[in-house]
Amino acid sequence: MRIALLGPPGCGKGTQGEIVCKDLAIPHISSGDLLRQAVQSGNELGRAAKDYMDRGQLVPDELVIGLIKERVAQQDCKAGFVLDGFPRNREQAEKLDGGLVGEGLDRVVAIEVSEPALVARLGGRRTCRGCGHLYHVSWNPPKVEGRCDACGAEIYTRDDDREDTVRERLEVYRKRTEPLMDFYQGMGLLRRVDGEAAPAEVSKRVFAALAVRND
Ligand SMILES: [Zn+2]
Repeated sequence: MRIALLGPPGCGKGTQGEIVCKDLAIPHISSGDLLRQAVQSGNELGRAAKDYMDRGQLVPDELVIGLIKERVAQQDCKAGFVLDGFPRNREQAEKLDGGLVGEGLDRVVAIEVSEPALVARLGGRRTCRGCGHLYHVSWNPPKVEGRCDACGAEIYTRDDDREDTVRERLEVYRKRTEPLMDFYQGMGLLRRVDGEAAPAEVSKRVFAALAVRND
């Protein structure tokens, strides 16, 4: 099954992607990972991508889609894959669809979480300066306030996790993703999943949306 997972920052998409991949024994494909690997390998696409990154520019969609096409053509993708982090907008989805002719996506699962819940999740996140361990002020606070349990270093709020930044990120996500949802809805591929529950419960909903068993 060829699956794309959509969802705002903080919706738990990464966790759910891992669970789906493990359960269905299919690879997890992230555009960020593909780009890093291509650059490391130094192949033609990788060198082209590196040129853009070195100049501080966005890597063009065509190039990223080229990498995705190359990746999904590999043997381990025969039974399917989970695409994570791409497409991000309707334009990319249209290009991707054209690029995956005959082997397009089977399902697009959107994990939906309300803005207040996302702000609570992301805005409460704290990061250790020493080892990068993540905490949450409500659900997973450190034993000693402001200090990492693992290494004792200071815990801080990353710029990305400040409430105003979180709201901005969500707004950007909403604006560019709504047309993307319409696109996949029109193709009959979109399934919306309520992501406001414990990860195990959300997994059940994701598998129900994929209409595959998970036991
Ligand atoms: Zn630490």
